[in-house]
Amino acid sequence: MYENEMNLKLAIGLLVAAIICTAGTALALSGVASKLNSPTVCPDAAHDISGLYSWTPVGTRSENFYWRCLVCGSFWYHYYPQDVYEAWRDAFLEPSFVRDYVLLYLKNVLELKVPDPLRMNWTGGRETPLGLLGYEIYVYCADDTIVTISYPVVLPKNTVYAIKVEMNGKTVWQGTLHQRRFDELLSVDISKTINDYYCGVGVFEKGIHVIATDHDPMFPDADPSGIDWQELKAHETTKASTKDFISLVISRGDFPTGGYTIQVKSFSWLEPYPLRLRFEVNFTNPGEGVAVTEAFTNPLVLVPLGTLSPGEYEVQVHIDTYILTYDENGNPVYTLIQTFKEELWTATFIVE
Ligand SMILES: [Zn+2]
Repeated sequence: MYENEMNLKLAIGLLVAAIICTAGTALALSGVASKLNSPTVCPDAAHDISGLYSWTPVGTRSENFYWRCLVCGSFWYHYYPQDVYEAWRDAFLEPSFVRDYVLLYLKNVLELKVPDPLRMNWTGGRETPLGLLGYEIYVYCADDTIVTISYPVVLPKNTVYAIKVEMNGKTVWQGTLHQRRFDELLSVDISKTINDYYCGVGVFEKGIHVIATDHDPMFPDADPSGIDWQELKAHETTKASTKDFISLVISRGDFPTGGYTIQVKSFSWLEPYPLRLRFEVNFTNPGEGVAVTEAFTNPLVLVPLGTLSPGEYEVQVHIDTYILTYDENGNPVYTLIQTFKEELWTATFIVE
């Protein structure tokens, strides 16, 4: 009996403590919430720049003004002092945090169907291969979701995290995070490439040319005759800025006759750092006896990419070469030239 009474007293004491504690927390949170003009009380993040999962649209006019909690979606308006803001923006972010932050961003801002990273049991971690210096790779898995994060080892404010989110074996989002700004790696629409055979003669040598212009060379109308190839050549570079419109010219160089073609088959992004753009390209050469035009040609393809986030890029062009002949019925026959080693062209460039 005595023991039970003690237990009861203890229980009441704990209950009172719990009520006081809850009330105190609720009071503190409601204070924050009312100050921020938001009725939602978020248990996981403060609705302030100090909140772990606070986000602002960096690079837009609402930067450091419109703020959003990526956990609950609440938003508030506030200008934080420049030094406070820069410290937040430039801080080093742990890879496991980047994983959660990007998934919350995809879920709350882009409204993609991705799981809540704060409710998942993540496994995995550092997967930097032995002997690789200068960058880090982290891979995290939970259920059917895989998040890969890689970044060069540089000053925190210069760190560009390359991120890939896969679900059920498919890439859901691929992009970068730099100074709290998310940029999706653009998908290259290979149907938007422009082929040309005559304008590049004497202009483009065989290889990959990285072009940085202040506008899309195909804008406003995708009329190939309107493209100034000489001007594009004049804008060839290996170092571009985040404001530049980047294009690639992949050229086979000059041929004394027609009949040589180039065709982009596919495009994909490869990770990790540096970011690799992989193209698969078909070359076709005229076979013996095939009639060709008697004029110099330069088979090339213009691939408009767009603006890119800062970082180091490598372009890979994987080449299959075919010989074109015709059978007795006049139908084209493409014969793949078997090579001991795959023909691969590469080029690197930097965006800063
Ligand atoms: Zn919240």
